[in-house]
Amino acid sequence: MSARVLVVDDILTNVKLLEAKLSAEYFDVTTALNGVDALAICERGEADIVLLDVMMPGLNGFEVCRRLKNSPTTAHIPVVMVTALDQPSDRLKGLDAGADDFLTKPIDDAALFARVRSLVRLKSVTDELRHRAIASRRLGIADPLAAAASETGLNGRVLLIEDRPTASERLSSALSTFHSVEVEADPNLALAKAAEGDFEAILVSLDLQNHDGLRLCSQLRSLERTRNVSVLLLGEAEDRARILRGLEIGAHDFLMRPVDRNELLARVRTQIRRKRFTERLRDSVQSSMEMAVMDQLTGLHNRRYLDSRLSTLFDESALRARSLAMLVLDVDRFKVVNDSWGHDAGDEVLREFADRVRACTRGIDLVARLGGEEVVVVLPDTTLDAAFAVAERIREKVEVEPFTIQRNSRTIGVTVSIGVASRRAGDLSPAEMMKRADDALYRAKESGRNRVIVASAA
Ligand code: GH3
Ligand code: MG
Ligand code: MG
Repeated sequence: MSARVLVVDDILTNVKLLEAKLSAEYFDVTTALNGVDALAICERGEADIVLLDVMMPGLNGFEVCRRLKNSPTTAHIPVVMVTALDQPSDRLKGLDAGADDFLTKPIDDAALFARVRSLVRLKSVTDELRHRAIASRRLGIADPLAAAASETGLNGRVLLIEDRPTASERLSSALSTFHSVEVEADPNLALAKAAEGDFEAILVSLDLQNHDGLRLCSQLRSLERTRNVSVLLLGEAEDRARILRGLEIGAHDFLMRPVDRNELLARVRTQIRRKRFTERLRDSVQSSMEMAVMDQLTGLHNRRYLDSRLSTLFDESALRARSLAMLVLDVDRFKVVNDSWGHDAGDEVLREFADRVRACTRGIDLVARLGGEEVVVVLPDTTLDAAFAVAERIREKVEVEPFTIQRNSRTIGVTVSIGVASRRAGDLSPAEMMKRADDALYRAKESGRNRVIVASAA
């Protein structure tokens, strides 16, 4: 899918000019002639990147940028400020407002396309994470987008790879105001340090004595441990071509020497913010994936997970002609626990019950809550006899020691009935094995509860 670029400028000819250039490169271009319209377009999720003019009547570019970056629905959209003059003060204001980059009018085509492409690439990663994070918000995880958007980008851990003492001293003293900084002059040691330390931003000099800074940059981008760290290049004005190459291979930003102190601080801060933003989303995606397969009350796997995993285990055991057994467990007269001691006490019993079942099983066994007070245990590579032994162990462990409820203030006796079955050669699906285990459980209930019944092997 081609990226949707929003061009914002109050002067129609400027808009048309950029639109023509970008359309020729197959970008999908939307335009806005003022800040209010631009914000609305972004809120509707119709832009992948914004090229934003600074000087506009009404809301100026800085203000539009600030609003975009402060809103959880739009904070992830990269913003490139387009300034009329190469004014350091404008650049700083833009960076302070959270802009991701700058272009100076008249716009150089190569720079334009390089920036737009690299930012669009970054955004497609963020987008994927965002979609999943939004799904996790529906699952009730605290709003990851708001948390991510409120990130300051300060107090970061920065590694400076620079072998010129004067430069490294100047840069590290500036950065130390807001971050903790380590300096390394030797590129190989730097790489090791980068892989060990938990850095959020790494500055790489392109003028290292005996080493190609670009090579270092590409190593940092490909190592598992450093892949997600923000990399900023330090170069001379005549390094332009190498800098563009660096951006292509994954550097996130660059600084030209002599490095302006404020621009350094602003760019590093923007990069750290961006990194933390993605990290937050990634974390929330991780926990939402866990939530999707776990039962919240007991910490056992849930039914959805059981359904998908059981069929895999079943197919594998059939293919390799290995045994596979399962237990279906149901707490006896559990309704009475709820009725006599309350639903919370019932929950306490379920949690303790889950712990005891888990304690009787191996790491490779699958323990899942079917719902209510029913639990299933799937035992790979286990014969019917061995499965019976496991079931009997669980039954006993539940019966032998009373359960504590109401925060350890009271104890009650609990028992469980268990049906056991194993895969038969003729079974076409795990449902058949499960049906036999269920029937066995029913017989266990019928014949007095607190017992294990095994479905015959053939
Ligand atoms: P039996 O020995 O025949 O299995 O009797 P039982 O009372 O255990 O069986 P029944 O299926 O009639 O009752 C199960 C009860 O479990 C009913 C339901 O309210 C309760 N229950 C289901 N889910 C939960 C839960 O998450 N927490 C609590 N506290 N109770 C639950
Ligand atoms: Mg029951
Ligand atoms: Mg039941």
